[in-house]
Amino acid sequence: MPTDSITLPEQQVPVIAECDVLVVGGGAAGMSAAIAAARQGADTILVERYGYLGGLASGGLIVLLLTLDDGDGHQVIAGQCQELVDRLHARSAAFHPPKEEWGNYDEQLVEKYRRWGLVWGSGPHRVRYSVAYDPEEFKYIANTWTAEAGVRLMYHRWATDVVLEPTSPTPNDQRPTPNPHRITHVVFTSKAGRHAIRAATVIDATGDGDIFTLAGESFEKEQIHPWLWFRMSGVTDVDAAQSARGGFFLRTTKPGQVLMPWGAADRISRRIDATDPDDLTFAEVECRRMVMDEVDRLRARVPGFEDAYLTDVALTLGVTESRRLSGAYTLARDDANHVFDDTICTTGHWTKYGALYHIPYRSLLPRHTTNLLVVGRCISVDHRVHHATKEIPPAMATGEAAGIAAAQSLRTSAAVLSADVSELQHELRRAGVWLPE
Ligand SMILES: Cc1cc2nc3c(=O)[nH]c(=O)nc-3n(C[C@H](O)[C@H](O)[C@H](O)COP(=O)(O)OP(=O)(O)OC[C@H]3O[C@@H](n4cnc5c(N)ncnc54)[C@H](O)[C@@H]3O)c2cc1C
Repeated sequence: MPTDSITLPEQQVPVIAECDVLVVGGGAAGMSAAIAAARQGADTILVERYGYLGGLASGGLIVLLLTLDDGDGHQVIAGQCQELVDRLHARSAAFHPPKEEWGNYDEQLVEKYRRWGLVWGSGPHRVRYSVAYDPEEFKYIANTWTAEAGVRLMYHRWATDVVLEPTSPTPNDQRPTPNPHRITHVVFTSKAGRHAIRAATVIDATGDGDIFTLAGESFEKEQIHPWLWFRMSGVTDVDAAQSARGGFFLRTTKPGQVLMPWGAADRISRRIDATDPDDLTFAEVECRRMVMDEVDRLRARVPGFEDAYLTDVALTLGVTESRRLSGAYTLARDDANHVFDDTICTTGHWTKYGALYHIPYRSLLPRHTTNLLVVGRCISVDHRVHHATKEIPPAMATGEAAGIAAAQSLRTSAAVLSADVSELQHELRRAGVWLPE
């Protein structure tokens, strides 16, 4: 605990931009939110603290879209996630089973795709519509895709503050609340100092809920064992090396290259809080040391790895969970397969067959902040449902829904919390999103 404190002098912070929709965080969810809002005609700014888009889905080397299907051979996530797959294919940077194989129980086929990391959990297994891809191609596509959509992209700025003002409840409020407020500005820190951006609607896509925390919303927080995925190249025969079973690694879209979905598990002495920089420092050092031990072990013990070399370690720790919003509705395990009136996307479960989560719009809505939407891995769900909804396809789907909702709120001059959900669902379907009848 800190033993001392200081008082900073008041500071004039320049307002460097204004926009209709401000998306904070450029992971898979934030990228989708920004593209969706801009395509609907909203003047949209996307701010990311690092120099690339994708977050865990590129820099974190989590390069598997798990999953776009319901476990039963039917696609339930389409929209922008399908467009991403198409864009990756156009650059020969994606691999997945063809449609006619989805849902197939054939053991040889299942084993083939398991070696790519496209089949997980307990059986009896079927072929899933899941996709392996290349992270550098993802980053390239993300830059061109956001530019094509007209998104104003700002890298290397870290959101550190919000400015709030009280507001009055609106008649169609989906989650009536005393003392509602709205965000007028988000403040960012960079090497150029502190700058503010004014926005009509803000989308929190930081993964850790930085914006809803700054806005005073309630949340739950988990401590986790960190992961740190890495890749090696120069494996002489990947298939033979996988059959030798000397380690767990996956094929990638590049010949001779493998992906290690490596995790510290209980080899690390404590779980970490991913919003605590001291915990992160500890985990970065420990995990990088252990990854190098694993590289040495693979080279020494696994046939085919004799001349293999490390090509990249994830730029960020693999943190599955930190803060989760306690929002207008918390989607719970018992909600599996329940369709809500305000469903804005549906996801299957990457380790289960026959479990669908229909995510309601209310899971993106905080309780007090009238012009804020939350997307991606920190939406309002319980710990077990998070296991499914945190995956990249549903993260993109919540982003897409929020982007369209934010643009719609601009057109109707209604706050996002009182959105016309049937109109939103209509727009989502027009954008190619699959929604249950
Ligand atoms: C070990 C592990 C394995 C996984 N395996 C899979 C898998 O196989 N398949 C799958 O589909 N999913 C998998 N997932 C889940 C998935 O990768 C993530 O949950 C998903 O990518 C989250 O996307 P997001 O956009 O919500 O968050 P993130 O990817 O975390 O993106 C958040 C973005 O916001 C930025 N940011 C954060 N704070 C700020 C700030 N204050 N100011 C500015 N920018 C900020 C970050 O730099 C980042 O770019 C896995 C996750 C982990 C950790």
